[in-house]
Amino acid sequence: HETVYAIASGKGGVGKTTTTVNLGTALAEAGERVAVVDADLGMANLAGFVSLSPDSTTLHDVLSGGASIDDATYRITENIVAVPSGTSLDEYADTSPEGLSDVVAELRDQFDYVFLDVGAGVSHETVLPLGLADAVILVSTPEPAAIHDSKKTLELTERAGGAVAGLVLTRTRPDSDVSYDEIAARLETPLLGTIPEDPGARESVYAGTPLVVYRPDGPAATAYKRLAADLAGIE
Ligand code: ADP
Ligand code: MG
Repeated sequence: HETVYAIASGKGGVGKTTTTVNLGTALAEAGERVAVVDADLGMANLAGFVSLSPDSTTLHDVLSGGASIDDATYRITENIVAVPSGTSLDEYADTSPEGLSDVVAELRDQFDYVFLDVGAGVSHETVLPLGLADAVILVSTPEPAAIHDSKKTLELTERAGGAVAGLVLTRTRPDSDVSYDEIAARLETPLLGTIPEDPGARESVYAGTPLVVYRPDGPAATAYKRLAADLAGIE
C-alpha cells in the first residue's frame, strides 16, 4: 500500500476532515501506525475533531521555522498522532507551505500511513500537497456542484505530478436516485467507498472524539472501517 495520502476536494465542507480523522483512527485500531496532518493551513480545524488544543505548537510553527515536527506532533491514542495547524489569520499570513515537503519526508519514515487533510479550492497551498502525496483520495458529496469541483482537483493533481487513487462519496443516501458508480465513472476514477449520511458525524465533532470511536456501529463508522480495511488490504 501507499504511505502518504492527500485527502482532497474541490468544494469545502464535503467531509475531508471527517474522512482524514476516521480513516486514520480505523487504521490505527487495526494496528497500523498513523499520522494525521492538518494541511488545511488557511481553515485548520482538525484539532477539534480529536480534542487537541491548537494554542500549543502547530504545523505553522514548523513551516515558519520556529519548531521541529516532533514539537507539533501529539499522540491521540496508542497508534495515532495528529499534527494540528494554527487557526489564526496571523499565523496563516506568516507561513509558507514550501516546508511541507520536508515534513512529509520525516513523517513518511516514522509511520505506516500519513494522511494530509488538504484545503479545498485551487490555491498554491492546496495544490502543493497533491503532488507530495503518493496518492490522492478525492472526497465529495454526490451534489452536482461538488462533483463538478472534484474534476478540477483531479486536473490539479495531474498538473502537480500526483496520482488520484479514487473517490470517496460522503453523505450518501440509500434512496438516492443518482448512481454513485456512475458519478465515479464520469470522473474516470475508481469509487473507493460511500459514507452514508449519519447524524453521528456532527455529534462526534462536538464530543471531540472520532466517529469510529464515538459511535462505532453507526452507518458512517462502519463504512469508514470498511474503507480502511480495503485500503490496507485487510479482510
Ligand atoms: P471538510 O473538511 O471537507 O470541510 P468536514 O469533514 O469538516 O468537511 O465536514 C463538514 C460537515 O459535514 C461537518 O459538520 C460534518 O460533521 C458533516 N459531515 C461529514 N460527514 C458526514 C456524514 N457522513 N453524515 C452527516 N454529516 C457529515
Ligand atoms: Mg476540513
